[in-house]
Amino acid sequence: MDEKLKILKQYFGYSSFRPGQEKTIDALLGGRDTFAVMPTGAGKSICYQIPALLGRGVSLVVSPLVSLMKDQVMSLVQMGVKAAYINSSLTPAQIRVVLDRACGGQYKIIYVAPERLLTGGFLQFAQNAPIDYVTVDEAHCVSKWGQDFRPSYLDVRTFVSGLPKRPVLGAFTATATAEVRKDVVDLLGLDRPYKVVTGFDRKNLFYEVRRPTDRRAELLRIVKDFSGRSGIVYCATRKNVDEICEMLRDRNVPAARYHAGLDDAERSRSQDDFVNDRVGVMVATNAFGMGIDKSNVSYVVHYNMPGDMESYYQEAGRAGRDGEPAWCILLYGAQDVRTQLFFIERMGENSETAAGNLNELQELARLRLKGMIDYCFTSGCLRAYILKYFGEEPPARCDNCGNCQRVLEQVDVTIDAQKILSCVKRAHEAWGVKVIMDVLRGSKAAKLRENGLDGLTTYGIMADVSEQRLRDTIFYLTQEKYLASSGGQYPRLILGERAAEVLRDRKNITAPLPQIESRTVRGEK
Ligand code: ADP
Repeated sequence: MDEKLKILKQYFGYSSFRPGQEKTIDALLGGRDTFAVMPTGAGKSICYQIPALLGRGVSLVVSPLVSLMKDQVMSLVQMGVKAAYINSSLTPAQIRVVLDRACGGQYKIIYVAPERLLTGGFLQFAQNAPIDYVTVDEAHCVSKWGQDFRPSYLDVRTFVSGLPKRPVLGAFTATATAEVRKDVVDLLGLDRPYKVVTGFDRKNLFYEVRRPTDRRAELLRIVKDFSGRSGIVYCATRKNVDEICEMLRDRNVPAARYHAGLDDAERSRSQDDFVNDRVGVMVATNAFGMGIDKSNVSYVVHYNMPGDMESYYQEAGRAGRDGEPAWCILLYGAQDVRTQLFFIERMGENSETAAGNLNELQELARLRLKGMIDYCFTSGCLRAYILKYFGEEPPARCDNCGNCQRVLEQVDVTIDAQKILSCVKRAHEAWGVKVIMDVLRGSKAAKLRENGLDGLTTYGIMADVSEQRLRDTIFYLTQEKYLASSGGQYPRLILGERAAEVLRDRKNITAPLPQIESRTVRGEK
């Protein structure tokens, strides 16, 4: 039998490879640098662990996450593989012990944090060790275009070029847009790498975006629809996690919470309760999920919009790992944009970020945020949007996402368009979508009174139109360039380049708009 298949059975207990695994392993075994882009859950670890086990010497795995290293090393050790990790969770004395053993050739696989690569003790070990492979996990961290840029990933190249014998390099990531891919190859110094990209399409996931007026009520509806099944509710802030978890518990929904502000004991209890199905709902920040292998998650709700598509794809992708149909529902609210912009403003407080690069990094983060916002507002196929984002060329429709299944009706919006554009004009193009909608619908909000907006002739002229319909109409008019956004931190709704066709020419406009319907989850139970 093929050596790698033997190892797969003997150590990992699996009888066949998943898509992409065999090609990746063969390339590495053949001595070729390899760059694999595979979605979360595809099984990347095995792709570098099997070559490592078949190598004569030792293999290094550069990994950014302390918790992930620990998990991986623990499961390797349980399988009988000699493995260790070196990162900030160890004391200097413990690191010395690991390095001593490493120098004595006692390990097959060593996980190492990128910050450790160029430290004295590690370099000394590396100079004398027979290193077969250097694998870089989460390789997108080397790129400023990625969502988790780690300057210390740039040390990988320096480290490798200082070795007496060049090992084979492997780079792995779940998220790589075209710019990130180029950076990974260039900045890690991969030598004409063999590239493996397995599809990002998770066919069993149903993607949906909702823009509810009352998010809490919407969330409760979803959680009730899915009662008896496991789900994760992601929130943008710790405060939101606490509040939402409490709200669910108040309504007798067993929920656990998880974020970096809780003590270790509560975090591991929460995780345990959720993984072992003692509670159905996990309310968490993005701190939850990495390295957690729970296959029967039936739904992931984003109570807040994340900051970029990479994060969204990864977090939503924790649903349906068992291949059963699962739902990924994003609840969008305008406040989410402000929260994310606030996070971007605060990026400078991260000590790892070199000050000189800060503006550039923030600019890139804003671009990624825009990609995320566009996902929330696209009327096209959501799956196609995701796949295109990750560099694939999908069919225009999947017929299995919220947008594809939404029933559209052709609506004559000629008069509504005139009303909306006049309102934008009369408000001097100085306000965002929310305020313009409030004016048109005749809201009693104090902000309108204080700014004299309730005196505009367009005040209340669309009072009979539902908020959802008005929002959809404005979105359509923006897409068609009758309206536009000023951009910037507080985007204003302004007249678009085709505005004159509405205001002057009184052009007839028919828009395909989502039918007004009462929403239900299409989950068969
Ligand atoms: P990734 O790093 O790509 O997110 P992992 O390496 O953590 O994924 O693998 C995800 C899960 O799939 C793990 O539980 C792993 O044991 C399992 N897995 C990997 N390869 C196979 C395979 N060939 N057959 C069955 N299960 C596999």
